[in-house]
Amino acid sequence: MLQTYQGSCHCRRVTFEVQANLDYVVDCNCSLCRRRGALWHGASASSLRILTGEADLVLYQFNTNTAKHYFCSHCGVHPFIRPRLDPSRWAFNVRCVDGVDLSSIPVRPFDGENWEVAAKAYYERLK
Ligand SMILES: [Zn+2]
Repeated sequence: MLQTYQGSCHCRRVTFEVQANLDYVVDCNCSLCRRRGALWHGASASSLRILTGEADLVLYQFNTNTAKHYFCSHCGVHPFIRPRLDPSRWAFNVRCVDGVDLSSIPVRPFDGENWEVAAKAYYERLK
């Protein structure tokens, strides 16, 4: 069921609103995600809106520099990214969303450590 959620970084300078059906979260084991411990859910470009704090965000990129990893320059939390799988979309960190019981949502692993293989399987499923 599509619902509207509010989320933020830890210091709440960065806040966002997103329409999503939180039927699963993605746990990625890439070199960055396994360190930051985020759980992701995808959102179309128009279904996520940054409400405050856009100027407080810092962009971090690595490897192919395709994904855009945004984090708050004050508290260091990563609320959302433009994912390498499709940088025209968003993925938001469900750990940053208010009022979500993560223990009730199934976790889907994404093998970001072997990104090319995992991405190929992901794109196949979209066909
Ligand atoms: Zn912050």
